[in-house]
Amino acid sequence: MPQPRELPVNPTTPDAAALAPAAEAWRAGGLVAFPTETVYGLGANALDPAAVGRVFAAKGRPATNPLIVHVTDRDEAKALTADWPAAAEKLATAFWPGPLTLVLKKAPHIPDVVTANGSTVAIRVPAHPVARALLMAAGLPIAAPSANRSGELSPTTADHVRTSLGDRVDVIVDGGPCPGGLESTVVDVTGDTVKVLRPGLITVAQLEAVVGPVAVGGTVSGPLPSPGMMAKHYSPRTALEVAESQQEADFLANLYETAGLKVARYAVPADPIAAAARLYADLHALDASGFDRIIAALPPAADEWQAVRDRLTRAAAEE
Ligand code: AMP
Ligand code: MG
Repeated sequence: MPQPRELPVNPTTPDAAALAPAAEAWRAGGLVAFPTETVYGLGANALDPAAVGRVFAAKGRPATNPLIVHVTDRDEAKALTADWPAAAEKLATAFWPGPLTLVLKKAPHIPDVVTANGSTVAIRVPAHPVARALLMAAGLPIAAPSANRSGELSPTTADHVRTSLGDRVDVIVDGGPCPGGLESTVVDVTGDTVKVLRPGLITVAQLEAVVGPVAVGGTVSGPLPSPGMMAKHYSPRTALEVAESQQEADFLANLYETAGLKVARYAVPADPIAAAARLYADLHALDASGFDRIIAALPPAADEWQAVRDRLTRAAAEE
């Protein structure tokens, strides 16, 4: 198998000519990994069912887990929907471009493989200059989950993509580390109340400031409002255990060390934005360091910490 073509680009002022081969690969049905403000995406032409099928194959992703479609602006987003409710308009105005994904009723021309046969489609307008330049160059809606094998840690650098996907991707656009470090917030705007399906970089308080009270679903143990909300996800290869307090974390770590295991004590940074930006990169690094176990104390159960708590809890879940 040929190795992926690597395209290094400037993260803030990407050169259009340097990105042209990526846009060409998309038009030819290929797979392109690219940086966004959340994590690296593995993109394909959303209107080409065979290309989207390759995304599922490359990731080993269950066909029941739908993809997020990335577009350049609100008009392009609207064109992919059958209904554009007032809440979508308000949230798009407040948070696009940015790390918010809206779930809407889908337009008939969106292939079923993108939505896992569902009647809704998840759409986002990314803010990262490289993602924007690529979408403009391609002139296509791009279906893109995170650029890693299904269930593994999401990639926040091109190196993470290379390690996880190897030659399963045609082009890797290397725009440096992703600034946000965690996936987008996913909200369902098809009902009377806006519903958070996955916590992410946009907090509940930020959403409520724009649309009033929102419902929060997608709890780890509850029913699955979003097909991708598996309890175990975003996981390092090394066994990870989380504790509700530092005391409990220390107790666990000591216990394992007494039993002769090599334990990594992961300290979540004190600031939620900094913690999100580093989490996956830190876990990738710990994964490569030969530990038997990683122990982490969860941050407080406060709104601004929900995304980090959610990812750590899923990373630690047993299947
Ligand atoms: P990923 O791109 O790997 O970060 O995952 C995308 C997330 O969005 C998953 O949790 C999906 O289940 C969710 N998602 C995508 N499309 C839909 C949809 N139509 N309805 C509900 N959730 C969706
Ligand atoms: Mg993912």
